[in-house]
Amino acid sequence: MTNRFPSLRHCDSCKEKITHVDAIRGNAIYTIGRIWHKAHLVCNRCNINVSEISFRESKMNPGKPVCVDCFMMETHPKCSACNKTLLETALMACGRYFHKECLKCHACSAVCRDSRYMVDNFGRIYDPDCYYVRVLRMRYGVHFGPSMHPPPDSELGR
Ligand SMILES: [Zn+2]
Ligand SMILES: [Zn+2]
Ligand SMILES: [Zn+2]
Ligand SMILES: [Zn+2]
Repeated sequence: MTNRFPSLRHCDSCKEKITHVDAIRGNAIYTIGRIWHKAHLVCNRCNINVSEISFRESKMNPGKPVCVDCFMMETHPKCSACNKTLLETALMACGRYFHKECLKCHACSAVCRDSRYMVDNFGRIYDPDCYYVRVLRMRYGVHFGPSMHPPPDSELGR
C-alpha cells in the first residue's frame, strides 16, 4: 500500500510515528502542513508548548511554530541595551537596535541627544562630546577633570 503523504505520518519534532491511537486520543495536531504529537508542538524559540495556546509559523524557521510572544520578537528586534522588544521605532546604531531613550553614552550615561552618537573600537557608544574628550585623552593624555574615570581598555571584558 502506498502512502501518499509519508512525511505526515511522523511527528515533525521527534520523528516518531504518529499512531492511529494518538490521532484518536487527540494526541496528534496537524498544522503548518505537518503533523506533531501534541506534547511536541512547542515554540521553536522558547520551547513552550503551544498546542493549546495561539501560535504562528516562525518567520525565521518556516515550518516551525512559535508562540505569539516569540513571533513578536522575530518580527520586532530587541533593543540591545535593555533587551526589550522594540515595538516602537527602532534606532539602528553600529549594527544593533536601540530604543531612542536607550542609546546612552558609555562615559556619562546620558541619553544621546538627537540620537547622535560616536562608536569607539570596542563598539561602545558615546555622545559626541564624550567621544572627543575620550579620543583626546587617549591620544594625547589630556585630562579633563575628575569626573571622567573610565576603566583602562585592557581590563574591559566584552
Ligand atoms: Zn513527537
Ligand atoms: Zn515562544
Ligand atoms: Zn531599550
Ligand atoms: Zn557622554
